[in-house]
Amino acid sequence: MSTKRIYNFNAGPAVLPLEVLEEIRSGFMEFGGMSIFEISHRSKKFGAILEETENLVVELMGVPKNYRVLFLQGGASLQFAMVPMNLMDKTADYALTGSWSKKALAEAKVVGAPRAAFSSEETKFSRTPASSEIDMGRDSSYLHITSNNTIYGTQYHAFPETGDVPLVADMSSDILSRAVDVSRFGLIYAGAQKNLGPAGVTLVAIREDLAGRNYRGLPAMLRYSTHVENNSLYNTPPVFAIYAVGLVLKWLKRQGGVAKMEQVNSRKAALIYDVLDRSTFYRSHADKQSRSFMNVVFTLPSDELTSKFIAKAEENDMAGLKGHRSVGGIRASIYNAFPMDGVEALAQFMREFERTR
Ligand SMILES: *Cc1c(COP(=O)(O)O)cnc(C)c1O
Repeated sequence: MSTKRIYNFNAGPAVLPLEVLEEIRSGFMEFGGMSIFEISHRSKKFGAILEETENLVVELMGVPKNYRVLFLQGGASLQFAMVPMNLMDKTADYALTGSWSKKALAEAKVVGAPRAAFSSEETKFSRTPASSEIDMGRDSSYLHITSNNTIYGTQYHAFPETGDVPLVADMSSDILSRAVDVSRFGLIYAGAQKNLGPAGVTLVAIREDLAGRNYRGLPAMLRYSTHVENNSLYNTPPVFAIYAVGLVLKWLKRQGGVAKMEQVNSRKAALIYDVLDRSTFYRSHADKQSRSFMNVVFTLPSDELTSKFIAKAEENDMAGLKGHRSVGGIRASIYNAFPMDGVEALAQFMREFERTR
């Protein structure tokens, strides 16, 4: 079977470690005469996989004892709804730093009367706020932030201070890419398909007391308490996706864990930002202090040059560089599993393209 790999800069689903893909291929049928697709979610084998995966999340993220780790379905998009349904009494605050946080706010509006406590929309979401810029309302049930803005290429490098008000974060595109003090958050969620594994599972870490909030009647599947009480086994969980996440986490641990990942990720991002900073041809979308280490977004002087850049990059085995339609330009997504040599290749290509275009 072919294992020719190209450099995959897609924003999500995104690149996974080759080692993990090969483990999935070789282990696929090795579940006692069955494949991973065919085993029961109530089997001992899957029970062990679920427990190990949960323990790895706890270990790698440093999840404190009074939190529960859940594996849910419906993507980060269902969390946009579950968070307000479960945690919002009358109102909550949302920091708007891009399309995903706007979607999260829109879902909260279905449930109650949330507020936009900050927005950088005027500057095309070029930055994340400082704590002092977030105008929290009274009676707020929580503050919701998007830790990394996948489309606009911005990231919080310091998290807001919220006192007793729980901080809720959508970490879909930077989970486990850097050390984070989980105890600062009431709830963290992340769709798996950027930094954790294949699509189909969503990781949630929730402080136990918040899982007990109960402001309105909700169907069982939409209550955090249901999934806490049933240890993510209320109904059939996405068995394969959880298995794959477990393999990715073991890979991450072999790489040296989150602290090591953070070092490597900042070096990777610096290689591309360095090209941007030395150039008058490319323009970084994000303000300097808000630059994302996961999604580097930049523009070229014209749409024509942008198309040419993308086409030439593809000829050089670099795929997925087209920016999101709301920003245009180029987006290089360089998640944990994206290799250093691919970033070096892109930086080299960018310098050459600027010279020879
Ligand atoms: C991709 C993404 C989402 C959407 O995730 P789904 O799993 O497709 O619902 C939400 N938030 C952020 C920050 C993302 O990057």
